[in-house]
Amino acid sequence: MAMSNGGETGGKRPGFGVFDDWGKIRHHHVVPMDLPVSRISCQEIWNKLSESQKHFIHHFSRASWSGSRICSSQISEESPSVLRLLLLLFSSTGILDLKRSCHKAGVTPGEWDSLTAYAACFMTNTGNYLAFGDMKFVPGIPEHQLDNIVRVCPLKGDKKKKLLDLWDKTRKRIYSLSPGVRRLGMPPKGVSAYYSKNMNLLEVQLISDWMIEFDEEPRNTRVWKRSDPSQHGDLPEYEVRIASTRCLPTKTYRYKNKCVIHLVYGDHQEDLRDVVMHLKNAIPYTDTDDQREMINCFIDYLETGSIESHKRSQILWVQQEEPFIEVNIGFVETYRDPQGSRAEFEGYVAVVNQTVSKQFRPLRERAEYFLSLLPWPKEFHAEKIQCPTFSCFEIFTFVSSIIPAGVNLPNYEDVRMAYGSRNICFLDVLYSKDHSFQTTFLYEDDAQAVQKMGREESVVQVAFHELLGHGSGKLFRRNRDGGFNFPYGKVSHPLTGDPVSTWYEPGETWNSVFGDISSAFEECRAECVGLFFSAHPEAMEAVGYTGQEAEDLMYINWLMMVRAGFLATETYSEDTGFWAQAHAQARFAVLRTLLAASKLDAERYSGKDLERERDFIQIHCDRRKVVRIKMNRNKIKTVGVPAVQTLLIKLQVYRSTADVAKGREFFSVLTTPPKYLLELKRIISANRRPRPMFVQAHTRITKNKEGESRVMLEEFDATSVGIIESSLARFKEWISDC
Ligand SMILES: [Zn+2]
Repeated sequence: MAMSNGGETGGKRPGFGVFDDWGKIRHHHVVPMDLPVSRISCQEIWNKLSESQKHFIHHFSRASWSGSRICSSQISEESPSVLRLLLLLFSSTGILDLKRSCHKAGVTPGEWDSLTAYAACFMTNTGNYLAFGDMKFVPGIPEHQLDNIVRVCPLKGDKKKKLLDLWDKTRKRIYSLSPGVRRLGMPPKGVSAYYSKNMNLLEVQLISDWMIEFDEEPRNTRVWKRSDPSQHGDLPEYEVRIASTRCLPTKTYRYKNKCVIHLVYGDHQEDLRDVVMHLKNAIPYTDTDDQREMINCFIDYLETGSIESHKRSQILWVQQEEPFIEVNIGFVETYRDPQGSRAEFEGYVAVVNQTVSKQFRPLRERAEYFLSLLPWPKEFHAEKIQCPTFSCFEIFTFVSSIIPAGVNLPNYEDVRMAYGSRNICFLDVLYSKDHSFQTTFLYEDDAQAVQKMGREESVVQVAFHELLGHGSGKLFRRNRDGGFNFPYGKVSHPLTGDPVSTWYEPGETWNSVFGDISSAFEECRAECVGLFFSAHPEAMEAVGYTGQEAEDLMYINWLMMVRAGFLATETYSEDTGFWAQAHAQARFAVLRTLLAASKLDAERYSGKDLERERDFIQIHCDRRKVVRIKMNRNKIKTVGVPAVQTLLIKLQVYRSTADVAKGREFFSVLTTPPKYLLELKRIISANRRPRPMFVQAHTRITKNKEGESRVMLEEFDATSVGIIESSLARFKEWISDC
């Protein structure tokens, strides 16, 4: 699981909004020119590393970056070609030279800035859909002017021909905003590169059923429906494409007279070859035998597609105490698959921050105790708590379409059950949040408090969310031998009082059963756990806060959650009833729960108190369309906590008992925004603040006078051009082979 950093969804107007008026649609998908850029700075850590550590980081970063091209091909059909197009275009000459040629050819400075903003946004999101919100974005520069730039670009010979070919192939798709391509999703309503365009959700479900029955893991696969005439009568044929460098023999299965499934190896073959090559180069610089073994498992997994090897790597990963250099790689998070089971490529390298990690040690040491305080019956607690770790790291390289604020891994349910999980939090992301931005819709005194304590609040919420949230609760299952992992017939269902009568069958997982709502549902559970413990003085003391300071942090945490839930409505589409972002949907569910509790409480006190004191939460919109959120901090413990506890019990019970029917019904009602909140969407769009893009460092190897290899660190400006330059540095060799 990944923790997202905050609830902001896009950029200032113009750009990145969802408006109903067709005439304005293009305008709101345009990348704004002023997207802020934050630098993930590594210089300070770099200076403290040994040469061997620098080599290890270098090779693992190269492996991760080679895989970023896979992320592109998992987003949209055109993304890999657009990436090549942009890299080729900017590689033609120094960026400033290209800018001069463009100006001579009549491209205005504004159009040039629109192009660099688009390129930086594309490179950051590894494709042409926003990683937060899954919305397509298009360049602000008119198509005829981009055509002009492609033509004046001073590339020569084959390279120029290649550039023109790429442009012809992609130009319509770059700019298209026809209704079916505006968001990621299952065709025809959305775009997905995990499935061929001729497939629908029912067919995806059929493949899922087969995979569960045959114990195949979908994470590192994509699915294509064959369109050529079948050799199997009228049965449709599907290719489940497995990511691997080796083309192992295809295996064919006939499934219940419904379809024929071919397991085909070698998906993402070329990019994975580079990933594997760099991983092999990292091996001589590993610190410990376990680390070496872990890298070997990564290599086998990426060469053969073996999930067993990846699980073995994750067992070794979980068993590391607190490594100095933290790495992981593979197909990890399923947020961008419309069905919620296929995962995006991810690879990262981070270095531990011992001071901050130490702050969270008491929480970890007492995790078992804190977990036991969660409000569900004891049978619903995981019996073997593996005492998950919580460590704070500074990112060196993070590759996927989004850089999360924290992760709780591994995602393989069986590995988590047997070996537990580790939580890590990325301080660069949490600290880079510009808290002066996160204060829209708040009153002045609250805004000041957020600016003062926002950093601490973020880390505390992430610690509770990851360590005690995702790390908690039990899934009831039937084992392959027919037995159960719970006392069958003896566990009473907390909502009905009857014995528990549903569970996970062998091969079923949380994701496979809860499908498209699994991510949002689970994030909601973890966010609620965060709120619950921030209102618990002992838990706050365990992370270093007591007295008034703890009370203030609790208040900011609850207030910011309500604000995030309010902002979340932007990622909801009224036309399709679809939420584009799991964390946003999760926070909205929390907001709805708290608003309902607030209303109920206010009715109870009606007439007794002053209007202002009565409500726990108020979202007030005045005649000038100014919206303000107000929270009565005295009611957090009396109204907020009981409401969150009730929500937590429901979420946990549906999750534990694999009760997708009831769980889905409950969650859909909770996350269908009422009219009065949807009416405020327009005001949210108008006040939206941009999410920062990150520019990351690059490393390269040089030889010194003695012929010894040395790793050099290169950092870039925190600007759109800096992001483009960093990508050019990383993909220099790859572009020259284009
Ligand atoms: Zn999470």
